[in-house]
Amino acid sequence: MIVEIKRIFHNLLFKKLLIILAIIRCSPVCVKMVLQLELVVVSLNVLSKKGVLSRYRQEHSWITKKRDSDKEEIVMDYRASLNLPQTSFKMKANLTQKEPVMLKQWEKEGLYQKIKDHCQGRPLFVLHDGPPYANGNIHLGTAFNKILKDIVLRSRRMAGFNAPYIPGWDCHGLPIEHNVDKELGDKKKTIPVLSKRKACRRYAEKWIKIQKKEFKRLGVIGDWEQPYLTMNHDYEAAIAREFNRFLFSGSVIRSKKPVYWCSTCTTALAEAEVEYHDHTSPSIYVKFPVVSDLSAVHPKLTGDDLSFVIWTTTPWTLPANQAIALHPDFVYAAVRVGDERLVIAAERVEKVMQECGFSEYEIDCTFSAGGLEHNYCKHPFMDRQSLIVLADYVTLDAGTGCVHTAPGHGTDDYLTGVRYQLDIMSPVDDEGYYTKEAGVYEGEQIPQVNSTINADMTAAGFLIGEDRINHSYPHCWRCKKPVIYRATPQWFISMQENDLRRKSLENIERVTWTPGWGMQRIYAMIENRPDWCLSRQRSWGVPITVVSCKDCGEIVRDKEISRRIDDLFRKEGADAWFSHDLEDFLPDELACSSCGSTRFSRENDILDVWFDSGVSHAAVCEARDELDVPADLYLEGSDQHRGWFHSALLTSVGTRGRAPYKGVLTHGYVVDGQGKKMSKSVGNVVAPQEVIEKYGAEILRLWVASEDYRDDIKVSDEILKQVSDSYRKIRNTIRYMLGNVSDFHPETDTVPVSELHELDRWALSRYEELKRKITAAYDAYEFHSIYHHLNYFCGTTMSAFYLDILKDRLYVSAPDSKERRAAQTVLYQVLDGMLKLMSPILCFTASEAWDALYRRSPQDDLEGSVFFSDFPAPDQQVLDDKAEQCWKRLIAVRSEITKALEIARAEKIIGHSLEAKVLIGADEELLSFLTGQWQILKDISIVSELIAVADNTFGDAKTYQSEEMDGLVIAVQPASGEKCERCWTRAVSVGTNSQHPTICDRCSTVLAEIEAA
Ligand SMILES: [Zn+2]
Ligand SMILES: [Zn+2]
Ligand SMILES: [Zn+2]
Repeated sequence: MIVEIKRIFHNLLFKKLLIILAIIRCSPVCVKMVLQLELVVVSLNVLSKKGVLSRYRQEHSWITKKRDSDKEEIVMDYRASLNLPQTSFKMKANLTQKEPVMLKQWEKEGLYQKIKDHCQGRPLFVLHDGPPYANGNIHLGTAFNKILKDIVLRSRRMAGFNAPYIPGWDCHGLPIEHNVDKELGDKKKTIPVLSKRKACRRYAEKWIKIQKKEFKRLGVIGDWEQPYLTMNHDYEAAIAREFNRFLFSGSVIRSKKPVYWCSTCTTALAEAEVEYHDHTSPSIYVKFPVVSDLSAVHPKLTGDDLSFVIWTTTPWTLPANQAIALHPDFVYAAVRVGDERLVIAAERVEKVMQECGFSEYEIDCTFSAGGLEHNYCKHPFMDRQSLIVLADYVTLDAGTGCVHTAPGHGTDDYLTGVRYQLDIMSPVDDEGYYTKEAGVYEGEQIPQVNSTINADMTAAGFLIGEDRINHSYPHCWRCKKPVIYRATPQWFISMQENDLRRKSLENIERVTWTPGWGMQRIYAMIENRPDWCLSRQRSWGVPITVVSCKDCGEIVRDKEISRRIDDLFRKEGADAWFSHDLEDFLPDELACSSCGSTRFSRENDILDVWFDSGVSHAAVCEARDELDVPADLYLEGSDQHRGWFHSALLTSVGTRGRAPYKGVLTHGYVVDGQGKKMSKSVGNVVAPQEVIEKYGAEILRLWVASEDYRDDIKVSDEILKQVSDSYRKIRNTIRYMLGNVSDFHPETDTVPVSELHELDRWALSRYEELKRKITAAYDAYEFHSIYHHLNYFCGTTMSAFYLDILKDRLYVSAPDSKERRAAQTVLYQVLDGMLKLMSPILCFTASEAWDALYRRSPQDDLEGSVFFSDFPAPDQQVLDDKAEQCWKRLIAVRSEITKALEIARAEKIIGHSLEAKVLIGADEELLSFLTGQWQILKDISIVSELIAVADNTFGDAKTYQSEEMDGLVIAVQPASGEKCERCWTRAVSVGTNSQHPTICDRCSTVLAEIEAA
């Protein structure tokens, strides 16, 4: 029987050894140590599982000697007298199965609500959730963001705050309407607006349900029962309320301005809805013949052979041309080509001549632009003139230095148009077809019309150069088609009225931006942004609740109207605007304050969806009891400087005079292992669902913590494998510690700090250091450093050093001996604290291990779980500076001894380090230091004998000369005596006890103690 057990045992050891050697690649010493810890635990576990060991124990106590039936000899098994680790905490994490069970329990018992109650009365910490868009499954970037928020919130709670979490969803807007349109097909044109809005609402609801499930699966806890939705009736009412605040303050203006326009989606687009991609456009040079007499500028500038030359990549904007802009400081030249003269900026002549294919040319005269202002050219094909204007945005980078100006089709052009009182003309309709104003081109589609216009101008002799150009051009974020700039009557929030721009800039400086460059980024955006175009010509959103006079167009600003809007929206949602007669919103006997008319109309456009989420500080933080304004933190991807951080800032400053947040934290984008953007076509997309299925959400959470999110966030199979390996090491360390405190009862077994072994006090000191570092890192949101601290502590400080040394004491000593209890005191305290410290990140594992440590069953109250504890408070320093220095030196010597042992092992002088006798030679100073620490040095070196050699008299022994420590010489020899079968130490006492001839006298004493107990 015993032989059989031993065979099983050794087979297991051997198999495990091979596997682990194959998996773990690190220093051989480290591997060995991890191995030793693991092996004993594994084997024991497997044996117990089979019930073999327990049966064996009953039959063969080491105390009662049994006869082997064949050989009739006494067999002793001292292994049964060792205190081997015992724990129900499995080595195999089995996360994919365990997590859903835990989540179900948390949900069933209302973990979030219970924690919320538990935290009542503490200082409030508000992390306000930026609402993801309710469309499609969550991707890795969204998962990263949600986990990061969960880590922040869990850590704030454990740091003593009340940190509620109300997740939200952004529900209105074009992407949803677009998809609903697709589902509707041809019906989209005839379907009543209310039915379409209903379909959009159902679509959003569907995805919210899916995403909610996906977010919960990540272990993110929050008020999932009552999230905020921008399409909730109360929220829609709040949007209208906030809009009306702007309207009443005079900040809302209606004006014809060029805005980004998508002809495919037939709507205006916000800055944030436009993305730049490469695009090929025509590149043409066009003549504008001079009609004014310019001889006052230069005597040669007379005659009808003179033309200005403009360059453009958008021929379709030429019908709207109103002016040619020159730079006031540039020198221009009249260039003679054949029988005509062309005006071009002097510096651009050579390039333009080359591109137009004119090899023969000469400069007739040069002159400055100043005197040219207010003269006229003739439009090449429209029946009107084009004004010469001056503008300092004209550059010499491209073109001719004479800039085609169409105020209805560009921002700079528009501003110039306002300055020179030009017509803000935009002869293009919603679908991108020319209107009557485009003359002969009426009904033609842009930009397809480009080729027709170019052909006509070539035939008429006005087009003097034509090519194609590849350049970065704005595209619609939704349909990916090139957009145009088009002037239409739109609703705007003015950046100038009520000093919105200046106040916003001032507030930016009061907010804490992490990382710091976020401040410059948003500052520059606010500083340069045009007025905020609020209107969208779509159906799925909150209407612009403006009532105006049907006769004179005056906007009606009436408190009673706002009150009725608020009432009806709260009851019925924003649908009320479309379902009720206008009269339901108007007070009786309302008359226009300007013309006295009693006929009114209402706006049908909806609000930019960024306004919806932008006002969440009012609709959520102000409205919900458990939150407050301003929020402590907004935490989103760095693209939100132009998105949500931006719109939230403007809506809050515009109505409350202050920013909605005290701090803003941003993270980068998730990219692949090479730093490339993830895309379906490249095939490098990592989906969170796949990671969870393969590794579990816990590994995803650990990956989130491991990444320095200030940069781009990398992910790949390789990276996830590394994270998973780190997890395994952390888990095994926890498991080993758990296994060794299974018989420890803190109330009766704790040893006071003052009576602890020196080494235990050192370990406590390392734990104290870990505690301080990790809590500080949580405070600074530097989670990647927590990941590194935790790995180092588990892998190096604990497994490879402390626990390895402790093994002898834990296994060999009598169970209730003080030295063993001392080690357990430390393990227990460190484990308790470490589980708390890691629980915001590794919530599943911390909870599982905590239940094992405190012998909790799934039926026990959730309140006893790790989530209700606080971070361990900092304690008095366990060791003073002198002791710390002393330990540093000891560990340095130990690492030299380890090197010498490695060499001896390679040379087959010894096997296990316990078989070694180590001889130490050193200079006087080092030797006198070591003399005081001799026993400790022997213990931490895990050798059987440690002997000082005077005057370096090593005799024949082969020596190892330290390169790190001057004068340190080490020799390794087999220790004297035989190997003790129980503790593996070599001792001369082995063989001296007739009752136990194969063990050392220390072990005999321990056995006597156990028997006596
Ligand atoms: Zn589009
Ligand atoms: Zn009126
Ligand atoms: Zn022994």
